[in-house]
Amino acid sequence: MKSLFFITGLFFCLTVQELIAQNIELFESVEYQKAVVRGTRSKNGKPGQNYWQNHSDYKIDVALSPEAHSLSGKAQIVYHNESPDTLTEITLRLYQDRYKKGTIRSRKVNPDDLHDGVSIDSLIINNTRINDGSIRHNGTNLTVQLPSPLFPKSTAQINIKWNFKIPTKTHFRRMGYFKDGAYFIGLWYPQIAVYDDIYGWDKFTFHTGVQEFYNDYNNYEVKITVPNGYVVWATGDLLNENKIFAPNILKKLRKAKATDETVNIITRDDYTLPVVKDSVWFYKASYISDFAFGAAKNFLWDGTSVIVEEKSKRRVFVDVAFHPGSDNFYGATDIARQCIEYYSKENPGIPFPYSHATSFNGVPDEANSAMEFPMIANDCNWQDSSIFKFALVHELFHNYFPFYVGTNEKQNTWMDEGWAFLIEHDFCNDILKEGHPRDPNQIYSFLAGTRIDFPLFTTSETYNKTNKGYYYAIKPFVIFSLLRDLLGKEIFTSILQEYIRLWHGKHPTPYDFFYTFNEVSGENLNWFWETCFYEFGYPDLELNVVDGEKIIVKKIGNIPLPIKLTINYEDGTNKEIVENLRIWKDWGNEYSLIIDKKKKVKSIELGDPKIPDINTANNYYGFK
Ligand SMILES: [Zn+2]
Repeated sequence: MKSLFFITGLFFCLTVQELIAQNIELFESVEYQKAVVRGTRSKNGKPGQNYWQNHSDYKIDVALSPEAHSLSGKAQIVYHNESPDTLTEITLRLYQDRYKKGTIRSRKVNPDDLHDGVSIDSLIINNTRINDGSIRHNGTNLTVQLPSPLFPKSTAQINIKWNFKIPTKTHFRRMGYFKDGAYFIGLWYPQIAVYDDIYGWDKFTFHTGVQEFYNDYNNYEVKITVPNGYVVWATGDLLNENKIFAPNILKKLRKAKATDETVNIITRDDYTLPVVKDSVWFYKASYISDFAFGAAKNFLWDGTSVIVEEKSKRRVFVDVAFHPGSDNFYGATDIARQCIEYYSKENPGIPFPYSHATSFNGVPDEANSAMEFPMIANDCNWQDSSIFKFALVHELFHNYFPFYVGTNEKQNTWMDEGWAFLIEHDFCNDILKEGHPRDPNQIYSFLAGTRIDFPLFTTSETYNKTNKGYYYAIKPFVIFSLLRDLLGKEIFTSILQEYIRLWHGKHPTPYDFFYTFNEVSGENLNWFWETCFYEFGYPDLELNVVDGEKIIVKKIGNIPLPIKLTINYEDGTNKEIVENLRIWKDWGNEYSLIIDKKKKVKSIELGDPKIPDINTANNYYGFK
């Protein structure tokens, strides 16, 4: 393509400013700089040699009471302090205090769902009963003064009994009553907040209901008691399935776990007889960042499985549990199976890390949203059925980020949602051959540079109901797409794989992400990180033609874009010229070409619907 054109000015002088831009040092927070000095983080993208993280072993006994719409539990938690610090307090997250009367929220809660907060029946730490004088509430957090200091490499035992009222009217995708006796239960147990090597205790509270995950990698043994006839789906492995399921259901479940075909494990007809024989369900999940479950008494259950690793032939069970009235879910198992195979073998090309991938239908249709938890997602039938598949595969992707790779979604939502949106779109475009009804590039072109558009690096703490979607989905989707354009698909995917290998089971920060990509690509990408993550700005390229033969593309906005020129000739043919966005690293803000005059040119177009640009009025030139 380039034979028709001659790039001019390749060696024109770079300004001092541009030379500096190529060797730019990224701003690092003071906390991160200190972590590098302590050796828990490194500048080469790998976890530092002194990297550590704390964790808990949870043994929980919980009972769901549909009659009272309540949940009550007791937990024995062993908290392991792996840090070099002596802890004098501990922070527990009581997410359900979001429904406490008087709490500030960014989403409305139905007054019928308000309560007096999570009721703590008892709290004992290392055999000492904790009284009110040693605790303080802050939003949904409960900070407890420890009866004795928790030294490095030692453990604390926390015994807690609690109960709360389950929301029934506020459609909330993380937890609540759905319909016909079905519940999804997430964010339900007193959870020890993260104490990390950079910021210490994570004290972001969940009162607004907007921010999502940042959890330790814990071990769970959970005993769930439900009323007779209820079926449970959950994170982890069910240890007593032989005792639980009726023989015909058990037979079908086993078949589903060994075949590529979809098996209707529980059908409408199966409910003419009991499908379960017991009401106490035992689960175990190791080294995982959360535990959630769904329970229902009339749900249909389809399952299949897929080999995610050819060498070991390891199979992952892929299943969908849904209300009989949720029509989009019929056939959804096949889509879920295809996406788990795609994620495992192609994009990102890392074998699905867990034993099952469950999609549970616990969000009311009118809520039009869904939510991920490890190994189980809470899904919606969606009023707009064209969104259903995108949402289903999106939530399943989250098993990689923020679960397998434990990014901090409370501060940097883009670090998981960006990947989830990008790869959700890839799967739907490449495999299902379906495009999303709302193209993120177009939405970005509409909103970039407006007053709601802060740098991506801005902490997600500041997100609210209005700008959240833009930050967690649209902008990172576009920026990750540009990064892929910059590096090329193959190299990009191999770096992403290395990033996952280096950071799975750990907590990477944005710096760790930037430095891993720099290190593995062998290229200093700081100019790209600086522009796309730290700066205010927008994408805008402008097309000019000088003296009828010189094309000049000007970068008006700061966001670097690939150049796509379409040269339309008088004879009806056309030619495309594509330049990698890397040219902006070397070319300053102007790029030029001399038009070959062998054929008469009619017009020139710059850009593409898939390349964002806030002003397309300056993207066309017609020859007279
Ligand atoms: Zn998401």
